[in-house]
Amino acid sequence: MDWNSKAIESEGAIVEDLKSLISINSVLDENTASDEAPFGEGPKRALDWLLEEGRKAGMHVKNIDGMAGHIEMGTGDELLGILCHVDVVPAGDGWTTPPFEADVRDGKVFGRGAIDDKGPTIAAWHAMKMVKESGITLNKRVRLIVGADEESGFRCMDRYFKTEEMPTIGFAPDADFPIINAEKGIAGLVFSQAGSAGSGSLVSFRSGSRTNMVPDEARAVVRIPAEELEGPFHAFLGESGLEGKLSPSGDNRSELMLRGKAAHAMEPEDGINAGIRLASFLDPHMEGDGARFTSFVDQAFGDGSRGHFLGLDFADEISGETTLNAGILAYNETSGGEVTVSMRYSVSYPVEEKLAACREALEGSGFALDLASDSPPHHVDADDPFIRTLQRVYERQTGEKAELLSIGGGTYARTLQKGVAFGMLFPGRPDVAHQADEWVSVDDLVKAAGIYADAISELAGN
Ligand SMILES: [Zn+2]
Repeated sequence: MDWNSKAIESEGAIVEDLKSLISINSVLDENTASDEAPFGEGPKRALDWLLEEGRKAGMHVKNIDGMAGHIEMGTGDELLGILCHVDVVPAGDGWTTPPFEADVRDGKVFGRGAIDDKGPTIAAWHAMKMVKESGITLNKRVRLIVGADEESGFRCMDRYFKTEEMPTIGFAPDADFPIINAEKGIAGLVFSQAGSAGSGSLVSFRSGSRTNMVPDEARAVVRIPAEELEGPFHAFLGESGLEGKLSPSGDNRSELMLRGKAAHAMEPEDGINAGIRLASFLDPHMEGDGARFTSFVDQAFGDGSRGHFLGLDFADEISGETTLNAGILAYNETSGGEVTVSMRYSVSYPVEEKLAACREALEGSGFALDLASDSPPHHVDADDPFIRTLQRVYERQTGEKAELLSIGGGTYARTLQKGVAFGMLFPGRPDVAHQADEWVSVDDLVKAAGIYADAISELAGN
């Protein structure tokens, strides 16, 4: 079957459907939330719209409490799941066209959700229709599983899999082509220092507000006169090339501000952690409890993001190095210090063992380690026939090598037992998800629909 030609024939319908779906503002809206619309009116309408399309195409449709739903075709014991979502993040500012009125120009569809995840959802949906219309017999059921809350915490899938069947195999068109088969574990680590009424030189310290970003600003108040710090601070700014500010704040105190560079926690080395840099600068000038804080930060994180000093470092061939992002660093005299870290750990990371070793290393440092959250790694073996099939399909449809990717972030695919992220952002395309003027190329939509149709027929066809 020439799936690409079939997809080209469907181009008009694909674009029209995407326009319809984009025109439904499906941002989470607690104000209009109700029993029938747990995530608000918009997400409900988007879900209803897609399920209605499934009904019109003569497929089995199920709505699960307005949180998720599915469209199913075929017969068989086994189930192929295709996981997508119809909710979007808020539009934000800076759009040149209205974000919820899809605008087609220069071969692109512009609008919130164009690439995340309404475009990919429509491509996958048309792929299902193409396979159905082709009349080929399926030996598995094929199910488009649609979530309405992917962007705000996966409540859709938590609810869905409470009562619905877990697919035998599945893919999620909600990330990158070719295939992401390995996603690191994501652990939230909290290093906390017991506080005491301080007479030390550090009054307060604050950097960062979320663990998944490298903090780009840090502020500290110290019990040292500004005249004393001026020389060293300006020398430090000169050497590091960083921007910062030192100002007197009365009572022989001074206030420091340092700017770094933000980056995603997946690769902290892409950014400059303002908190770590400021703590390292302050450390030699500190006394008392505050000195234990700055010296902990400097030792534990000053030499990079791989966790060597803490004994948390680890790497494997499938997913590469474990990374630690010290996303929130805070100290105050009454409660002490706290560093909250997002650790992206390799697929084969021995969690218990490593944390125990780290706790041992911390003894006597005045710092304790807590595991605040943990989302285990997700991995499907490269030799699995399922992966091989997706690779063969992708290579046939694109003429490009289907490299397997490993990432430090989590994709929607991790809610599946045996699932991978499969598109639909093609290599080399800018990632405009969550940005103003989000777009998807019409050619890419068509190409992806062909790839998904081929994948469905290979994975579920006779
Ligand atoms: Zn998404």
